[in-house]
Parts: sequence; structure tokens; C-alpha cells
Amino acid sequence: MRHILEKLYSKNSLTREELLYLLDKLEEDGRDYLYSLAYNTTLKTYGNRIFVRGLLEFTNYCKNNCKYCGLRRDNKKIERYRLSKEEILASLEEGNKLGYKTFVLQGGEDPYYTDEILIDIVKTIKSKYKDVAVTLSIGERSRGSYEKLYQAGVDRFLLRHETATKNLYHSLHEGMSLEKRMECLLNLKEIGYQVGAGFLVGLPGESKESLVDNLLFLKRLQPAMVGIGPLISHPDTPLRGFNNGSVETTLKMISLTRLLLPNALIPATTALNTLSKEGLERGILAGANVVMLNLSPVEIRRKYELYKNKEITDAHQIRKIEDRVKKVNFQVDMGRGDHIKYNRRVNNV
Ligand code: SF4
Repeated sequence: MRHILEKLYSKNSLTREELLYLLDKLEEDGRDYLYSLAYNTTLKTYGNRIFVRGLLEFTNYCKNNCKYCGLRRDNKKIERYRLSKEEILASLEEGNKLGYKTFVLQGGEDPYYTDEILIDIVKTIKSKYKDVAVTLSIGERSRGSYEKLYQAGVDRFLLRHETATKNLYHSLHEGMSLEKRMECLLNLKEIGYQVGAGFLVGLPGESKESLVDNLLFLKRLQPAMVGIGPLISHPDTPLRGFNNGSVETTLKMISLTRLLLPNALIPATTALNTLSKEGLERGILAGANVVMLNLSPVEIRRKYELYKNKEITDAHQIRKIEDRVKKVNFQVDMGRGDHIKYNRRVNNV
């Protein structure tokens, strides 16, 4: 098994059979070796820096009905909210004062936020804060919409594929299709965004084959960012009572992704931090190099409930993050933290 890991480390590529073999055979020994190769790869590409993003969850309305998600439209127990442009700007101003250089605006798929509304918000942000990167995470839209938002100044777009296995995808996403998801990701890439994909670990029906499907899909897509988090079952969804995803499997997937895509920006996700007290440190040791801290107004945070008991780290707690990452010989980087191959474009704003 060691020779396969070494091949992965040197070539950043493996066949389906080799990946399946690794997932079958990775016991404790091999697992620690995998983590160390991934950690070394991060050091070679981005150094010992963890990039910090300011996350604003600006709407918890969603027209979709993903079976695992607390924001799904059939969840009538959730108290819905939307932030106005003024509320969004006030939160970002707080982030700006704290030194954040990336703002991630995340929401459910909420048709209230038309292109016109979003373009106005993005243009205002980009003209106010010249050196800040704006990331959107607002789901599937038309190619035309993605183009307009890019022209308005959006730099990055997160759209997790959740699973690259067709049957599994369709069993969890009523009224949606994997083909459409992939088309959106390709459109975003072609337009010029730094694109983020990613998947959930521990979905009902998951298999080693489906995990490998995810890894091979990521290798083909070559996204700039990859978010991988364990499923956390939510009591007000059809997956209530279902087992949570495994932290160990999530860490293995982070490591394999780091080795397949050495230049990817990979967060130690909130879900990982929720299931493991040392999720941030363990994520870094397995190959992660991004963390998102919360800029949302305090009174709405608990309402953005993708899953219960979410571990929320407030954007003000940057010192705490600094102390934690020092334990694994990392330091916080408050810069934009663009993908290594990103050519900075001239904004039209
Ligand atoms: S996962 Fe995203 S698209 Fe699906 S219900 Fe939740 S917020 Fe909506």
C-alpha cells in the first residue's frame, strides 16, 4: 500500500482500482502516512498558512428539498430570514474592520435575490473594498446569470456537487439532476470563476465506489476549492435519526483530495468542527488550508440550520484560531488567499 501512496504523492494521480484498494486497506499505519503526505503537499504548495474567510449567511430560504438539509423547503419548523442590502453591508463592514479579505455570501436557492439585486450588492461591495474577494454560494442559476454576476465582480463560486454518483444524487435531490449540477460547475469554470466543488461523507447509500466517484470527478473538474464535510443528520429532515458521517473518512477524503489536487484550497469545514472538537487541527494535519468564520448577525445565526448544533466560530475569534493552528505549526493568513494559478482579472466596476 505504501508504494501506491508514494505514487499518489509524486504523480498526483491514481486509477479507480488503486483508489478502491487504498480505501479497502487504509488501516491506522497507512492512514497516518497518508495524512503526513497530504500535510507535506500543502506545505509545498501554499506553505504553512491557513486562509481565513468571512462567511455571511444572508438568506435561509430555499426552493429545493435536499433530503439532508435543514433549509429544505418542506421544513416548516425553521424560522426563515433574508438580509437586506443594508444589513449585508453592515456585516461586511464589521468583517472589513477585522481585516477579512474574502467575503463568502452564502444562502439557500432563494429566487428573491434576482440578478439585479445581487449585482447591485456585489458592485457596492467591490467599489467599497477594492482589494477584497467576493465568493457566492447560492446554488444553481442559468449561465447568463453566472456571467452577469462575474461581470459585476464576483471572484469565486462555491457549488458542492454533494455526490458524483448519479443514483445517489437523484435519491437525495428531488427535482434536481446531477447533469444540471455538473453543467453549472462547467459553466462557472468556463466563465472564469475560481470554482468550488465538494461532497458529503456518510450519505445513506454511500459506498467506497461512490467515494471514489467523487475523487475522480474532482480530478477531472480541477476545481480551485473543494469542501468536504461529514453528513450531520437533522431531526426535521427525512434523514432524521440517520448516522452522522465519519470524521475519519472525511479526513481521509481531505487527504486524498489534497494529493490528487495539490493546489486546491480545502477548508476544514464547519461540519468537521462540529463532529470533532479538534476538527480544525485534524483537518490541517490531513491537508486542509482554509477556515471560514462567521460574520452573520448574531440573532440570525441559529436560524441558518443546515444541521443541528452547528459549531459556529465568530469572525471576531481570530486570535483563538491563531492559537489553535499554531499547535499544528500553521499560521493565520488574512490575505485574499486566491488559488495559486489564479490570474487576477481586471474588474469592470
Ligand atoms: S443543500 Fe442547499 S439547495 Fe439543498 S435544500 Fe439545503 S440550502 Fe437548499
